[in-house]
Amino acid sequence: MKLKVGAATDVGRTRTANEDSFLRDDKGQTYAVADGMGGHRAGDVASATAVEVVTRELGSGATLVEAIVAANDEVFAKAQANPEMRGMGTTVTSVVFDGERALIAHVGDSRGYLWRDGALTQVTEDHSLVEELVRQGRLTPEEAAVHPQRNIVTRALGVDADVQVDSYEIDLYPGDRLLLCSDGLTSMMRDDEIAAVLRGAADPQLASDALVDAANRAGGEDNITVLVLDVVGDRGKARQRAIAAGADVEPSASERTGEWDPVKATDPSDAEAGSPPPSASTRVRRPFHRVLLWGLPFLVVVGVAMFTLRWYARSTYYLGTDAKQEVVVLYRGVPGGFLVWDPTVEQRTTVRVSDLTEAGANDVRTEKRFSSESRARRYVTRLTQSTTTTTSPTTTTTLPAAPPTTAPA
Ligand code: CA
Repeated sequence: MKLKVGAATDVGRTRTANEDSFLRDDKGQTYAVADGMGGHRAGDVASATAVEVVTRELGSGATLVEAIVAANDEVFAKAQANPEMRGMGTTVTSVVFDGERALIAHVGDSRGYLWRDGALTQVTEDHSLVEELVRQGRLTPEEAAVHPQRNIVTRALGVDADVQVDSYEIDLYPGDRLLLCSDGLTSMMRDDEIAAVLRGAADPQLASDALVDAANRAGGEDNITVLVLDVVGDRGKARQRAIAAGADVEPSASERTGEWDPVKATDPSDAEAGSPPPSASTRVRRPFHRVLLWGLPFLVVVGVAMFTLRWYARSTYYLGTDAKQEVVVLYRGVPGGFLVWDPTVEQRTTVRVSDLTEAGANDVRTEKRFSSESRARRYVTRLTQSTTTTTSPTTTTTLPAAPPTTAPA
């Protein structure tokens, strides 16, 4: 799978400078939003430094969390060394994509969202004062959304020598959409309003532009930065290629510790470090499950279809004659047969074709049909009685009345 990316940033309608920075590295499949703070454009320096350091560190083999810790060191050092930058800081919310999964790591209140199957879910937890108060039950989410101090962050890069980075791993599927944004978007728009914009914009660049426009229409009180990452391609094919190439379906432990957050080293799948490669049967397990997954519903559909066709083929009865065209025969099935189901003789009557009334003869000639066995048998019974009575010269011909509920021919 690949990512199709849109990005947009805007100063907003009340600020004079844009202190947000973003990283878009399509080759390295790395993306980030950083929202700087601090007077005299120090916020601009903080967010730009964070993006630069994350890019540089990832390029030299660091994990995403290591790269963010390095960014903290560098922003903090700059703030200490330059009195006019004292107190500056920045958020950072960053994504690395490996073709199947995203690792999201963040510090601060710039958010990562997952849009899947028409629903928007916030992946990251804001490191903000109001979010802490919500977690403590002292504010409702509704109160937090409009709280005057909602822009105060409790964790940021550059304000302390140490920083704690939160990270999340997400398995992605075609059609998924990741949204990274600064609080200039989320302080202006509720999640359902963001979702409505995403729903209306299929292209990630159009979606990014539309979100920035919407935040500006809602007031634009802060800098707005938006990245929309659309997951495209075929997850199944990617896995099949990996199998064909003899690779394990899951990334190996060494790949994970090399490219992913080492904090996750206690993950059970990492317990296989140093163990022999999985056997062939282990490798085909997932595709086999996929065959079952797709095969079973297919078999059920085919089964239902066959049952329905057979029901159609066998639920009809019709009139005909025997091979010598001497007596009337009640057949079960569709005249001439239907697919693999030929009609069968249901009842060979004693009614001679030559004894039939004109109407009865016509019914036999046109292969009159009945929608149930009981209706067919009632007709045959009356036909037998009527031809019996016609042998009496004193009785006028009584035609077998067509049952009112016969199926149309
Ligand atoms: Ca901001």
